[in-house]
Amino acid sequence: MSAKTAAFAAQSATSPLAAMSIDRRDPGPRDVQMEILFCGVCHSDLHTARGEWPGIVFPVVPGHEIVGRVTAVGKEVKGFKAGDLAAVGCLVDSCRGCASCKEGLEQFCDGMVMTYNSPDKHMPGKMTYGGYSKSIVVDERFVLRVPKNLDPAAAAPLLCAGITTYSPLRHWGAGRGKKVGIVGLGGLGHMGVKFAHAFGAHTVLFTTSASKIEDGKRLGADEVVISKDDAQMGKHIQSFDFILNTVAASHNLDAFTNLLKRDGTLCLVGAPSTPHPSPNVFPLIFKRRAIAGSLIGGLPETQEMLDFCGKHSIVCDIEKIAMADINTAYERMLRSDVKYRFVIDMATLR
Ligand code: NAP
Ligand code: ZN
Ligand code: ZN
Repeated sequence: MSAKTAAFAAQSATSPLAAMSIDRRDPGPRDVQMEILFCGVCHSDLHTARGEWPGIVFPVVPGHEIVGRVTAVGKEVKGFKAGDLAAVGCLVDSCRGCASCKEGLEQFCDGMVMTYNSPDKHMPGKMTYGGYSKSIVVDERFVLRVPKNLDPAAAAPLLCAGITTYSPLRHWGAGRGKKVGIVGLGGLGHMGVKFAHAFGAHTVLFTTSASKIEDGKRLGADEVVISKDDAQMGKHIQSFDFILNTVAASHNLDAFTNLLKRDGTLCLVGAPSTPHPSPNVFPLIFKRRAIAGSLIGGLPETQEMLDFCGKHSIVCDIEKIAMADINTAYERMLRSDVKYRFVIDMATLR
C-alpha cells in the first residue's frame, strides 16, 4: 500500500524542476513516517537534477537535508513517536551486514541506499525520491534526532553539509595546535569553517570571492585568503596540517598541495562533474603529502555531529525559500550567491 505525496522533480537533465505526485509506502513495522517541514538545497541536488554525474535515472526528486515531524511509526519502532522532531540525511538504507555497516560507516557500504536516485528496495523498479516532497517513510535505523534547542530550518543542512565537513575534520584530527584550511565558502565550506573553529584549530578560509572575507571571519576563520591571489597563497607554503576542499567545480589542486606541511593531507569532498586537472606528483612525493576523499558520514557520527551542534548551539546560516523558487535558487548557487544554504520551507508545497 502507498500514499500519493506532492513533490518537485526534474523530468530530465534539461527540464526545470516542477510539481509531480509521487508514491510513498505505508509505514512497515520498523518505519518512521514524517511530514517534511524543511529541506536544505545541496549542490549535489543540482548536479543530480541536471544529469551531471553518471548513472542518474529521471525523474529525480532531490533533497537529503530533511527535518520533519513524525506522523506515524511502525509497531516495532522504539526511538520515535508521533509528534517528535526527526531528521533524515543522505542515506535511507544499507546492507547492515558488511564490515562498514558493522562499524557504523554505512556510507561506504556497497549496498547503501541513498535518499534519492538509488534503486528503491521497497518499490521494485523505482528509484528513491528525496526531500523535495511533503512526506517520507524511512527505516528507524536511518532516522536521526534533532536537538530541541536548534532551529529546525537552520538545522536541516547539518544532515549533509554538516556531516560532510564534520566527519573528515574529526578523522584527520583537526583541533588545537593544528592549522586547517577550508576551501570554498558555500554550504559545505561555511560549516567546515564553523566546525574547524569549534574544534580549536587555527582556521584559514580560502575563497575566490573577495565579498566573503568579512563573513568568513564572522563564521570563525582566523584568516581569509583569496585563493586566486598567488602572493597571498605564497605566504602559506608548507604550513597546513590539513585542508578540506569543498569546491563544486574543476580546478588546479597543486596550489593547495603546496601549502601542506610534510605528511599533510588535502581532502576533497567537492564532486565536480568535470575532473580536476591531474595533480603534479612531485609536491606529493617530496613531502609525503596525501590527497584523499571523504563521503558524508555514517549514522552514529551524524547523530554525534547533531548532538555536538546542540551542545554548542551550532546551526547553518540559511536563506529560506519557497518550493517554487528552486530553479532560481539553483542559478544563484551556480553564481556562488547564497549565504550560505538555501532551505525550502515545505509548507509552500501544496
Ligand atoms: P556550494 O554551496 O555551491 O559551494 C561551493 C563553493 O565552491 C562556492 O560557494 C564557491 O566558494 C566555490 N566555488 C564554486 N565554483 C568555483 C570555482 N570555479 N573555482 C573555485 N571555487 C569555486 O556547494 P556545496 O553544496 O557546498 O557543495 C560543494 C560540493 O561538494 C559539490 O560538488 C557537492 O556535490 C559536493 N558534496 C560532496 C559530498 C561528499 O560527501 N563528498 C557531500 C555533499 C556535497 P567561494 O565563493 O568561497 O570561492
Ligand atoms: Zn548533499
Ligand atoms: Zn553494508
